[in-house]
Amino acid sequence: MPNCLFIFLFCVRATSKSSLSGVAPLEAVLFDIDGTLCDSDPIHYYAFREMLPEIGFNGGVPITEEYYIENFAGKHNDDVARILFPDDFERGLKFTEDKEAMFRRLAVDKLKRVNGLYKVKKWIEDRGLKRAAVTNAPRVNAELMISMLGLSDFFQGLVIGNECEHAKPHPEPYLKGLEILKASKEHTFVFEDSVSGIKAAVAAGMPVVGLTTGNPEHILVEAKPTFLIKDYEDPKLWAALEELDKKSGTGSGTSRA
Ligand SMILES: [Mg+2]
Repeated sequence: MPNCLFIFLFCVRATSKSSLSGVAPLEAVLFDIDGTLCDSDPIHYYAFREMLPEIGFNGGVPITEEYYIENFAGKHNDDVARILFPDDFERGLKFTEDKEAMFRRLAVDKLKRVNGLYKVKKWIEDRGLKRAAVTNAPRVNAELMISMLGLSDFFQGLVIGNECEHAKPHPEPYLKGLEILKASKEHTFVFEDSVSGIKAAVAAGMPVVGLTTGNPEHILVEAKPTFLIKDYEDPKLWAALEELDKKSGTGSGTSRA
């Protein structure tokens, strides 16, 4: 059965290509922000749930978390605006701006970093790797979250989807991240938490470590991450990073900084 053989060979090739150790020697790491650096999806969901009934969306019935995940999580606000007001884009945009303002007010008290974030930050710093944040969030939100998480000096670049010609799930924001860092996609991997973001990074040609902070595993796997982790404490991540160290000739106590 030549077709079966072709599919088998394709799968073997696809699997080996998507291995994290394939990027050794590692040069750079790219991070999404919402849901990847901090568990911000519950705050976005809360803001949508509170504000949508005010505009009569869904007959005034608050949306469910499942609806939020399927329709809004990780999406660019232009797309959210079109879903909410297919015939009045400007009104949709105004709603998303108001919603982002509510997000920022709530974030001051409620924003929490993802477990183990500082551990992986140290791992990256110890090896002198390049790093950038790549997000579909508005710049004002992105800068607020990075600052609240104490990461302003950590990131060497910040790419905003809205400032690119195409936001995620288009690969452009991730390709721009590589360009800013002068890093190669062959030696870079990405942390992401949404289907839209994973698709963008995979389309940009990089392996993706997916976080299940806000979106269920069965939805994320469809976007083809290399593997999924619960948070940055997950042993699966540290086993993969150890393997990368071995292949890169770096490791415990070794610094390329
Ligand atoms: Mg995200």
